[in-house]
Amino acid sequence: METSIGPGAVGVNLNHIKVCARCGLRYDWRKSASSTLKMTYCGALCERADLGFTIDALVRAERIEKAPVPPL
Ligand SMILES: [Zn+2]
Repeated sequence: METSIGPGAVGVNLNHIKVCARCGLRYDWRKSASSTLKMTYCGALCERADLGFTIDALVRAERIEKAPVPPL
């Protein structure tokens, strides 16, 4: 991609730039505070605001519950 973001963006690799699904902010996904949805949200706040929870918390909760799944 040859597109330039503008002055000051020199050195920014656009392959790493994502647009937050919630707030529309352009961010470097490698720097996102969201642990599991780095490619979708700029941070855990947007992740939780959009989903109502964070995948991180969900995974942790599932690990704690460990409820047996009845066969359907
Ligand atoms: Zn955001």
